[in-house]
Amino acid sequence: MIRAVLFDLSGVLYIGGQLIPGAVKAIEHLYEANVPLRFITNTTRRSRIMVYNDLRDIGFHIELESIYTPVQAVNNYLKKNNLVPHLLVHPNIQYEFKDCKEQSPNAVVIGDAAEYFNYNVLNEAFRLLMKGAPLIAMGYNRYFKEPGGMSLDLGPFVTALEYAAQIKATIIGKPSADFFHQVCSDFDVDKEHIIMFGDDYASDTLGAIEAGLQGGLVKTGKYRKGDENRLAGSGAVIVSNITEAADWCLSNYQPKAH
Ligand SMILES: [Mg+2]
Repeated sequence: MIRAVLFDLSGVLYIGGQLIPGAVKAIEHLYEANVPLRFITNTTRRSRIMVYNDLRDIGFHIELESIYTPVQAVNNYLKKNNLVPHLLVHPNIQYEFKDCKEQSPNAVVIGDAAEYFNYNVLNEAFRLLMKGAPLIAMGYNRYFKEPGGMSLDLGPFVTALEYAAQIKATIIGKPSADFFHQVCSDFDVDKEHIIMFGDDYASDTLGAIEAGLQGGLVKTGKYRKGDENRLAGSGAVIVSNITEAADWCLSNYQPKAH
């Protein structure tokens, strides 16, 4: 039984800018049945507003407030720990850190900077880490699916810095339990009655299960044959695609009794 649902975006609803067939209808059916939904992405190449507009452009009617990227969680973390970030992030999301001053940084925040990663920016971050600055990463995903094929995600760059500086990054995006719990706090239900569906068996499915939620895997996006074997014994719900995920949710949904 479930009372609320979290969906990953990339690889579940779309790949690059291309809609996954049936996705718009699947989400509409869930909204019509009043299933509480939130969308939780580790995408840090696009700002939250951009993600919202991208979703509208391909036919979804999803509210901005239902979309969670790691940026808000990172800003909360920085504030709570009195940290001034050196940003190694994509230019698209720089303005989302507008409350942070760039002088005398005492932490490194790394997002998926895509083509903006190069030796100089990585080395600048490395030098701060060697002076003792903590490394805060907006995800740890290995790769994701784009229309042209699989692409390097943030994890390999985080790992390079961890290896060089002999430190461990603090991960703020999925699979961080804190991130799942922040999003779940929107619902007034126990987290064991919330399911998270994604195409990343590690960050989405296992991450959710380890955070006390239920986990689901769709076989679209970055899914590769055999990923479901890595979930053996975890109790994960395995479905072909978003349409099947929505059907599973509708069959297992029970609104909270008032
Ligand atoms: Mg994904």
